[in-house]
Amino acid sequence: GGLLEQITFKNGKFQRRQEAVHAINGVDLQVQKGEALCVVGESGCGKSTVARTVMGLLSPTAGEIHYDGQRIDNLSGDAVLPYRRKMQMIFQNPYASLNPRMTIQKTLEEPIRFHHPEWSELEVRDKVHEVMHSVGINPDWGARFGHEFSGGQRQRIAIARALAVDPEFIVADEPISALDVSIQAQVLNLLMDAQESRNLTYLFITHDLAVVEHFGTRVAVMYLGRVCELADTKTLFSTPRHPYTQALLSAIPKLEDDRPNHIRLQGEVPTPVNLPSGCVFHGRCPYANERCKQEIPQLIATDGGAQVACHAVEEGRL
Ligand code: SF4
Ligand code: MG
Repeated sequence: GGLLEQITFKNGKFQRRQEAVHAINGVDLQVQKGEALCVVGESGCGKSTVARTVMGLLSPTAGEIHYDGQRIDNLSGDAVLPYRRKMQMIFQNPYASLNPRMTIQKTLEEPIRFHHPEWSELEVRDKVHEVMHSVGINPDWGARFGHEFSGGQRQRIAIARALAVDPEFIVADEPISALDVSIQAQVLNLLMDAQESRNLTYLFITHDLAVVEHFGTRVAVMYLGRVCELADTKTLFSTPRHPYTQALLSAIPKLEDDRPNHIRLQGEVPTPVNLPSGCVFHGRCPYANERCKQEIPQLIATDGGAQVACHAVEEGRL
């Protein structure tokens, strides 16, 4: 026990009347120990809502979150503390997530002291030193303030803060997309190195398919609050099955595009406030039929190993 085996996000639903843009419905995900599960989709598809709900920052209106078999979304008081340590989040914008007027030393000490009140001064300082070093920030810079650092350095510090409490599971919501393109790869590599050396499990939210291909063990593709395809990364990129996944992959410019099923999307993205009946993709899908307008497709396993929520796939006409 103790180590993360699996985190399960069951039948997650979340809706707010004003910001239905973030609504998710019937999202069912299991993250396996040691993997990086990427959740990919366009903005407004609900992927950040999944991240925040898993972290307990939003309360689902239905559904449950389990960690190693323990339901955690209804825990309160001290019972939730171990999970607050084991599960850490890295946000998109290091300017918003780091206090610019706090020294780096303080920023990193804070979560360590909170979760390890029994640690000595020396132990705390050693830990701060260790995480600063491991994210490539000079450990002698502890007295500097957040505002003295560049965006890329701030994101490294935010990563150090997450790592400082020795988490098992990290939710990263677009952790490189606010950064200069020139340093995105460095930060991505840092996250991959940390995964390797610290045995981390990731739920990685991104709109960037190149990141997914590089980083993901498995991929969940989301469209308008639903998961439409779930597959291991190789399978998804070599044989995308859901028409939306095919369209997403078609949009990546490639010199030699010999991918099968090259399709282009028609129509507009519906407003998430008034979701279409049946398959939420039916207004844009070249394979839509009457059934698609009525009946919500469920994720089902296919021969190729992917799980796909599509009537055409299920009926064998795609
Ligand atoms: Fe297209 Fe129908 Fe499949 Fe939805 S269920 S993706 S509308 S074929
Ligand atoms: Mg987002």
